[in-house]
Amino acid sequence: MKKINKKNLQQLSETVAVLTESEQKRFIGAAFYYSYEGNLLGFMGDSCEVRVVDAGTFYSLQYCNDDTCLFGSSNSLFYSDEQTQANVINYMAMELGLSNIYVGALYDKVGNLLYTSGGRTTHFGTSYTYPDGSVIYDHQYSYITINNVSDMFKNGNFYDIMCTLIHEQDHYENYNFYTHENVASEYYAYNVTIYNEYFEYASSEFQESIYSQYRYYQNLFYNMYY
Ligand SMILES: [Zn+2]
Repeated sequence: MKKINKKNLQQLSETVAVLTESEQKRFIGAAFYYSYEGNLLGFMGDSCEVRVVDAGTFYSLQYCNDDTCLFGSSNSLFYSDEQTQANVINYMAMELGLSNIYVGALYDKVGNLLYTSGGRTTHFGTSYTYPDGSVIYDHQYSYITINNVSDMFKNGNFYDIMCTLIHEQDHYENYNFYTHENVASEYYAYNVTIYNEYFEYASSEFQESIYSQYRYYQNLFYNMYY
């Protein structure tokens, strides 16, 4: 057996470094490429990042797919303008049967930017108060906003975004203004966030944060109902 000494340890670490570099090279340029109008142009490799590029550039550079070519000529979703972001998000949402998704910054109740929420579903309604004091509430519509200042959006992972859309879709489709209860609603929405075909490919930081939110609401839910 070869004795390990300082010299061959050095050689070993160089080999490892070279391997790692060539491993990384295979992934450079890998992404989901969308046009500014929001159409999916194609995807390459096994990176999950959503990138934006004009169609002409994509078709002329798609076979020159490295850092200085296609990837370098494209923009991240985060640094794209809001209209482009909305185009891409709505194209992705179409796959889930959703439309008219808003893209913008979300704030908490006191006006601080929210970095940890990927999206929000807002329910809009009007209430009428009758002379006898009784109130009738009329639900008009709901809409989904994807938070373009969130960590989720900044990472721009295709699967994280799909899971976020699915989460909001659950809020959107299952809203009932007579029976709405926040804990139950979040518990169900986190359930579908985890148990859908996209979740296993989501980024590990996204998965971790979803699992911890899920456990949080699961606890509250079982304490309330059982
Ligand atoms: Zn939610």
